[in-house]
Amino acid sequence: MFGGLREKLMAARQRLGGSIEAAVAKAETEEGAVPAPESPSPVAAPPQKSPSPPSTPSFVERVRVLITERELIVSENDLDEALSELEMTLLESDVALPATDAIIASVQKNLVGRHRKIGESVDALVVNALKGALLDVLGSGFDLKEYITKHERPVKILFTGVNGTGKTTTVAKIGYYLKKEGFTVVIGAGDTYRAGAIEQISVHAERIGIKVIQHQEGADPSAVLFDAVQYAQSHKLDVVLADTAGRFHNKANLMSQLEKIKRVMKPDLVVYVDEAVAGNDAVTRAFEFDKTVGADAVVLTKADMDSRGGAAISIAHTIGKPLMFLGVGQAYDDILPFEPAKVVDELLDCGT
Ligand code: GDP
Repeated sequence: MFGGLREKLMAARQRLGGSIEAAVAKAETEEGAVPAPESPSPVAAPPQKSPSPPSTPSFVERVRVLITERELIVSENDLDEALSELEMTLLESDVALPATDAIIASVQKNLVGRHRKIGESVDALVVNALKGALLDVLGSGFDLKEYITKHERPVKILFTGVNGTGKTTTVAKIGYYLKKEGFTVVIGAGDTYRAGAIEQISVHAERIGIKVIQHQEGADPSAVLFDAVQYAQSHKLDVVLADTAGRFHNKANLMSQLEKIKRVMKPDLVVYVDEAVAGNDAVTRAFEFDKTVGADAVVLTKADMDSRGGAAISIAHTIGKPLMFLGVGQAYDDILPFEPAKVVDELLDCGT
């Protein structure tokens, strides 16, 4: 997942580190000789055992000493090129412009200026700056289990999104995930518009052992989903997962259908589903959907096929709604709750 972006971020990490070391080396040349460390620092070379005069510290040691034992001064100019490269990397990876700007500004703010006795290596400094910047744009995610646990039951979740992106599969995957976590679930087959959609969700539901409420093709989706909520209430179930059509005769029709569904079933959460592989298009569509209908969270499917990672990185920041799950394959358990800290560690290759 996001392998291309990970590689590019590794290169950016090294490039930023190189720029900082170059800046320190420049300062050293301007200042004259660098004093050797008075006491060994955690990252300095181990002290020589032999009583012979200490050898001249290597360049790397001297740089480390400068950074860990003294104050580090890095100017904006020192990082200009490396930051421009990082900016290009993010844009090429389909990270939306506002998210890219936010990441660059955060890294710059973190690295430029003085860090007195920071006591860490250049690489750790860079990794922490990148980590902080990415975590800021990724937001906090959305813990669905916690939400359901704390909420009055049944929790009603309406799924909507563009056809073909994996919406129906996502409803089944989330049903399977919640069932495994011990919740009771019913699915409402609210996509009555598309030929075969009711059968498709019914087949999924049967395979994962979840009850599905359905009417015939062309029925009013609001009526189906109302019945699904009634079923959940009378059977004291925890969750209603409502599948809906991603397409109608036209956009206005779709919107008015969704408005009606919202009035009738009163969802607790509206979840917008799109595919990570669509990159910036997915971000734009989610933004528009949120503006017109309103979304509480987003699921991105097909993250397993997306090496750029741009939509996943920027969607929460751009639309201001959390990313809840990533779809990572075609099997029912190929769904991951979106945990920003884990994703960032994986992207920067500093996980456990
Ligand atoms: P819908 O029209 O939006 O309801 O889409 P479907 O649920 O029918 O899915 C369309 C196709 O995408 C199917 O072949 C799914 O197996 C596939 N799909 C769904 N989610 C994922 C995913 O996370 N990864 C991959 N690789 N394929 C997926």
